[in-house]
Amino acid sequence: MITIGKLGSFRFPAGEYVYTGSGGDNVEARVGRHLSGSKKLRWHIDYLLSNSSVVVMGFTLFREAECAVNQTTEGVILVPKFGATDCRNGCGSHLKYLGPEADLSYTAGVKCFGAIARS
Ligand SMILES: [Zn+2]
Repeated sequence: MITIGKLGSFRFPAGEYVYTGSGGDNVEARVGRHLSGSKKLRWHIDYLLSNSSVVVMGFTLFREAECAVNQTTEGVILVPKFGATDCRNGCGSHLKYLGPEADLSYTAGVKCFGAIARS
């Protein structure tokens, strides 16, 4: 179980996930912040990445809005509202589970993080 702030505690099956988030005008700084080891836990993704069994596989920057990217991403929602408490576009979650052995060649994504969680 990993506690994701006020959202609650969830079991993350081992496998690969893709997260889509907004970086704003300062996207490089935002991504660097997410990838850095020590930081205050502010966003849902911070809680997930702070777990020692989670590894970031890579990321990609997009010009499109985060919800548009998220909605074209495959995967299933295991944690409703993850990264999407203020989403107005009906995504349901900005974290999707790709399965135990996803094809990382398409998991690109940060605004998308592909992350492995071995739980
Ligand atoms: Zn959204």
